[in-house]
Amino acid sequence: MAEEKELRYDPAAIEPKWQARWASEPKMYAAEPADCGKPKYYVLEMLPYPSGQLHMGHVRNYSIGDALARHMWMRGYNVLHPMGWDAFGLPAENAALKNNTPPREWTLSNIAAMKVQMDRLGLGYDWAREIATCLPEYYRWNQWFFLRMYEKGLVYRKKSKVNWCPECATVLANEQVVDGCCWRHDTTMVDQRDLVQWFYRITAYAQELLDGLDKLDGWPEKVRTMQRNWIGRSEGTEVDFFLEEQATREQGNEGTGTKGLGTREQGARIRVFTTRVDTIFGATSVQLAPQHALVAEFTAANAELKAQVDELLDQQKKAREAGDLGAIEKHGVPTGRFAINPYNGDRVPIWVANYILADYGTGAIMSVPGHDQRDFEFATKYGLDIRQVIRPVQDGESAELPFCSEDGVLVNSGEFDGMSCTEAQKKLQEIAAGSAFGESKVIFRLKDWGLSRQRYWGTPIPMIHCEQCGLVQVPDEQLPVLLPEQIEITQQGGSPLSRVPDFLNTTCPKCGGAAKRETDTMDTFVDSSWYFYRYTDARNDREPFHPATAQYWFPIDQYIGGVEHAILHLIYSRFWTKVMRDLGLIVNDEPARRLFTQGMVIKDGAKMSKSKGNVVSPDEMIKKYGADATRMYALFAAPPDRDLDWQEDGVAGVSRFLGRVWRLADKYAALARTGRDHEIEAPSGLSLKLLRKLHQTIAKITQDFEGRWHFNTCVAAIMELVNEVQATDGQLAAGEVAAPVVLELLRTLVLLLAPFAPYLAAELWETLGEEGGVLRAPWPQSDPDLAREDELEIPVQINGKLVAVVTVAAGADGKAIESAALADEKVQARMAGKTVAKIVVVPGKLVNLVVK
Ligand SMILES: [Zn+2]
Ligand SMILES: [Zn+2]
Repeated sequence: MAEEKELRYDPAAIEPKWQARWASEPKMYAAEPADCGKPKYYVLEMLPYPSGQLHMGHVRNYSIGDALARHMWMRGYNVLHPMGWDAFGLPAENAALKNNTPPREWTLSNIAAMKVQMDRLGLGYDWAREIATCLPEYYRWNQWFFLRMYEKGLVYRKKSKVNWCPECATVLANEQVVDGCCWRHDTTMVDQRDLVQWFYRITAYAQELLDGLDKLDGWPEKVRTMQRNWIGRSEGTEVDFFLEEQATREQGNEGTGTKGLGTREQGARIRVFTTRVDTIFGATSVQLAPQHALVAEFTAANAELKAQVDELLDQQKKAREAGDLGAIEKHGVPTGRFAINPYNGDRVPIWVANYILADYGTGAIMSVPGHDQRDFEFATKYGLDIRQVIRPVQDGESAELPFCSEDGVLVNSGEFDGMSCTEAQKKLQEIAAGSAFGESKVIFRLKDWGLSRQRYWGTPIPMIHCEQCGLVQVPDEQLPVLLPEQIEITQQGGSPLSRVPDFLNTTCPKCGGAAKRETDTMDTFVDSSWYFYRYTDARNDREPFHPATAQYWFPIDQYIGGVEHAILHLIYSRFWTKVMRDLGLIVNDEPARRLFTQGMVIKDGAKMSKSKGNVVSPDEMIKKYGADATRMYALFAAPPDRDLDWQEDGVAGVSRFLGRVWRLADKYAALARTGRDHEIEAPSGLSLKLLRKLHQTIAKITQDFEGRWHFNTCVAAIMELVNEVQATDGQLAAGEVAAPVVLELLRTLVLLLAPFAPYLAAELWETLGEEGGVLRAPWPQSDPDLAREDELEIPVQINGKLVAVVTVAAGADGKAIESAALADEKVQARMAGKTVAKIVVVPGKLVNLVVK
């Protein structure tokens, strides 16, 4: 069986051969200059953290991006398809502790290992543009941006409560706290600590970040919704309630209605934020967050109240840690003090409550139990007044309370009675503004981005603390502030850099005196906020990138990554883009025109993880089945936006399919080659049938690349095509199909395979005697005349049940289809003795007969 053996598809021989050839052509995947005359296409997969091992999630992500990049190359685009490394971060320090390997060494060797894996997969990256964010030539620009943002007031420093992970021994951003725990240590509760921290003023762009989402129609709706909720815009009114002492001194506390409106200029006030100022006549208490400044005043001379408030604080902290602040069981304590409603002079008790958050709005609210569910529950629990001040538009005066709709009319609200809610909101806002006891206000849930980390393996913050001059910027010409390489990593708290005297001690650039460097490093999300701009001009040592070059490539045409980055990376990088635009570096408002979020790769229904022992190694799959089969399976096994349950059988199946393609091409290559330079003449019969299938397949795959991205059905369509060709093996062997048609079939099959199985495509391209690489061969065009069926098979149902299939001309109208159905023998047999009550014809699709 020597011949059998020869015909074995052997990816272990084919793939390394092409890998070596491609390695000798470094320009193969290089993007061309802007003046190349081709339209540009920037396709990008999110850059990985260099852990040292690719996982299947990576393989899937990169197989999608690489298929798209190859398709666009074949479509004649100037494609930018780079790759790099998100190389700062905690695991390098942990590894250093564990193995005594310096973080830089560990990281660089991981990068090298993963690059080998990527090359083996045959991913077409422009490695001349590779970046690693841990290298000074990259992070110096993080420092440069920091200084530019500092100059613009977009960086500031303040003492604040921060999320502290005891395990990481560092600060976490709000976004890195998941259900009260560290995002890296999911069983470690996050503490709150007071620290002086650096912040990026992302809130300055809150409104623009929100508005921009409306225009990002190439992004998944899911991601846009998550960002909208994260930014969390509320429109409302801030109103000052006056502390009673001040009010009584001025004019007593008997005020009702609106007399005395806005006359209380003096004295302490409690500013509340409300989205429903129209209900303010129904306010029956004011409630403060336990951390509110006034609470400290109230408790200073009241030990009992202090103890109660401490308990509320504790409850809030626990709920925050458990991540269910929204579901906290509501508790409160009365302070014994009263506040005066500025609109009607009403005297209402001041409470402290555990569900009022110090960092949302003003940290104080007015409680309107008649028209707010949460306030209603609280008032019911503690016996506070419940007052109706809004009635439904339709149903007369009464309504079941709480009545929370804004579709209502004011009652029991003095001169505002009879106004609609919206009208009253506007009027009451105007009064507050005119009387200086309030104003209309928009607030955001989004907080400024705390970027200080007490870690070693990150970008040093380029600031100097001088006793004479205060905070001093590191001058641009002294950048980069180099991260010292020889450093002992310990588990002591605080910034490791503060224990490196050579780093810490410096001279002040302003006065020349002795000074100390900032020892915090930057959050690693800084690195990934702008890395994709650096790819456009990765070796520039004078600026982060050349503006004109970035302008040519941006925005990214297609960005691909996991949905877990919807909030962190994708909000930060949108912010960074807007800042760079305002610095005059770029002209685009958003980084990426289209975003695709692929599903996870799971195994046996669960996320792959070492602890579950269900990790499938890409290396093992490649060794057994080849890179092409592994990649193609990753695209074939599920629609790319859904989770993919990894089945080794499936990979084996794809490998067998590629083997069939390989044998088919091998068998008919000689015949096909004789068809070169001959026109296909008016095909008919079997040739026409095969060409029709071919052109239908071209149309389907082309269409999928343009929008739907159902690569699983693309691969299935290629399989169908191969099945159909193989089914005619006998006739092919007998020479019933002309050589030019065989060439057209095989050649096009290889072109269609090229984005999915690049190694096999390259091999077969050569087998067919084609010149030049398949990567730059033009993508095939579907001929609509050839693709069109001249006959259609139409299923015929009786009472919803399939009984026959009739063949009609492709353009047949309803009447013709109906007669063909009624003329069918099987249909007639089923209808014997019955009458047709109704005939439904869906032209081109279906006939249904309703028969009695
Ligand atoms: Zn942690
Ligand atoms: Zn100084």
